[in-house]
Amino acid sequence: MDRKSILIVEDEAQISRFLQLELEHENYACTICGDGREALNIALAADFDLIILDVMLPSLNGIEVLRRLRMSKQTPVIILTARDQVVDKVTGLDIGANDYMTKPFAIEELLARIRLHTKNAVASSTNNMICGDLSVNPDARVATYAGAPIDLTKKEFDLLLYLMQHRNVVISRETLLDEVWGFDFYGSTNVVDVYIRYLRAKIDNTYKVNIIETVRGAGYVIR
Ligand code: CA
Repeated sequence: MDRKSILIVEDEAQISRFLQLELEHENYACTICGDGREALNIALAADFDLIILDVMLPSLNGIEVLRRLRMSKQTPVIILTARDQVVDKVTGLDIGANDYMTKPFAIEELLARIRLHTKNAVASSTNNMICGDLSVNPDARVATYAGAPIDLTKKEFDLLLYLMQHRNVVISRETLLDEVWGFDFYGSTNVVDVYIRYLRAKIDNTYKVNIIETVRGAGYVIR
C-alpha cells in the first residue's frame, strides 16, 4: 500500500520536528513547511493526503491559507490552534477545515484523527452506497461528500446508513427510532428530528444540497 503523504505546516520547529518523527514512525511521508505563503504554494502544487495546519504562521496565517486552498482543493485539513483561539477554531471549520486540534494535544488523538481523515472510502471497499456526491461505506463506517470525509458521530452515521440502505423508501420516525436507537430506547421520536437536523447541517447545508427529504406526516427519505 502506498504511503500517505502529509504536509505539516508549523513554524515552531520543535513541534514540527516532533510531528514529523511521530508521523514517519507511523509510515506517513512528511513534508514540512514553516511559512504560510510557501505552504499554500506547496499545497496547491502537490496532492497531499492530509495537511496539518497551524494557525499562527509567518507571512500568511493558517485561516487564510485554508481559505485560499479551498478555492481549488478539498485536501483534508486538520487545524492546530492554541488553547485560547476559539474564534480560529470556529472560523476554520466554517471555511472548510475537516478537524481541529488544540495545542498542546495528545499525539494519539491526532493520529486517530489523521487515520479518520485519510481513509480512502472509495478504494477500501466496493460496498459504497452512493447518492450523487454522497458516499457511505458501511465497512469502514466512513461517509464522504465529493471525496471529503464527513465527520459524523456514531448515531449520525447509523441514521444516515439506515436511510441509504432504504433508498426511495419513506421511513417513519417510529421506525427510525426502533431501528437506529433500538426498541428499548426510552425517549420520544423528537430525537430523530434532532439527529436529522445534525445530519442536514453536516451534509445538506454544508454542501448546499437537498439529500435528506422530509415527507410531511410520513417521515424521511433519501432518493
Ligand atoms: Ca505557530
